[in-house]
Amino acid sequence: MTEQRHDTTAGPAREAIARAWDELVATARRTVTDGLVVGTSGNVSVRVGDTVLVTPSGVPYEKLTPAHVLGVDLDGNRTIGDLAPTSELPMHLAVYRSTAAGAVVHTHAVHATAVSTLVPELPTIHYMTAALGGPVRVAPYALYGSDELAENMLRALRDRSACLLQNHGTVAYADTLAQAFDRTAQLEWMCQVWLTATAGPGRVPHLLSLSQLHEVEEKLSGYGQVSARPAFEDEAEGR
Ligand code: 13P
Ligand code: ZN
Repeated sequence: MTEQRHDTTAGPAREAIARAWDELVATARRTVTDGLVVGTSGNVSVRVGDTVLVTPSGVPYEKLTPAHVLGVDLDGNRTIGDLAPTSELPMHLAVYRSTAAGAVVHTHAVHATAVSTLVPELPTIHYMTAALGGPVRVAPYALYGSDELAENMLRALRDRSACLLQNHGTVAYADTLAQAFDRTAQLEWMCQVWLTATAGPGRVPHLLSLSQLHEVEEKLSGYGQVSARPAFEDEAEGR
């Protein structure tokens, strides 16, 4: 059976989409090589104008080439490519409809997933909580790919750039794929810190207060090589 290939883009838009697709595939592969997902778990998207490029459902990332570029509009209609989009399209589109996000990364990172089964919110174990907008909530469990999961996620993301999905994994968004990936990695790392700190019997870690986190949030806005930023545009948020 030959399915009609969709592609309604042309010229410079096509080049921007080709570049964004390359970056999306590289980011998706990094979720595997950095141990944040196993196999075809997780998914990644990036917004280019009114088009959202997404990873296809159930396709190993190493198999993706420039020929597999896949895009949908904000209503979820496929506008580029012929593969079936990620089953978590409702989550990705919900983020783009409700925020100014440029990219979304979803993973099944092991420590984050473990924490999602234990608490309704990641305890404020580290000051990097502030880089995600405050204490990271856990969205109540719902079936993968469901509108209910997207709704639960959106509530958990209020005033935050990342959340955990109960018995499932992580979601993080940002202006860029590099930032969304970095936030995911920071969240996974913080979950590992909390699990490590509570591992021994009777261990009760010290937690940070909301006012301490606000203080960090203010300071982080001036973190790093602020004046030299344009020279490092492609780099992940260094915090
Ligand atoms: P997809 O392969 O459809 O993206 O699904 C992976 C996943 O993580 C579902 O939650
Ligand atoms: Zn998933």
